[in-house]
Amino acid sequence: MNVSRRGFIKLLGAGTACYGLSRLGLDVKPALAYATSLKTAGSKEVLSICPYCSCGCNIIMSVRDGQLISSEGDPDYPVSEGSLCPKGAAFRALHVNKHRITKPLYRAPGATDWVEKDWDFMLSTIALRIKTARDRDFKTKNDKGQAVNRLDTVFSVGSALMDNEECAVTVQALRGLGIYQIDHQARV
Ligand code: SF4
Repeated sequence: MNVSRRGFIKLLGAGTACYGLSRLGLDVKPALAYATSLKTAGSKEVLSICPYCSCGCNIIMSVRDGQLISSEGDPDYPVSEGSLCPKGAAFRALHVNKHRITKPLYRAPGATDWVEKDWDFMLSTIALRIKTARDRDFKTKNDKGQAVNRLDTVFSVGSALMDNEECAVTVQALRGLGIYQIDHQARV
């Protein structure tokens, strides 16, 4: 009988399966006791996909009382077979974390302190600065007269918490502005 680890736990949760397994001569009591003592006991499993790279690893999210209480790899997912890289493994900690910054922080030029600002301020400030730099520095040709259409004075540093789609849209927007100095610390 070939049953995956995840399927096995599910089967154990079903009385009929336990009955069937015990009929096969397997002693399911220790496994059943283990399953009911798990931190995820009583939770609902939701199968999701890690958004942080193109491996697209399955992640099993356990939800109880409307709260995400656990995230773990899916042993049945054929690419990673239940393993996750550090970012995927930290999925819940990235989501449920008292240190998570949920409001924009701004540090003015020359200042040492970060202060909270609203999104209107942040987005309009970023847009104005990019436009000012682009109007001033955009080059259509280089010193040899070759077409370059680039902006040398702006660079972009991405976030490890940007997902695939955010990265794709951001890169397209930056390239459209002529910005080519782009980096991202989450190159898996
Ligand atoms: S970031 Fe890690 S866990 Fe997420 S899909 Fe990529 S390899 Fe898998």
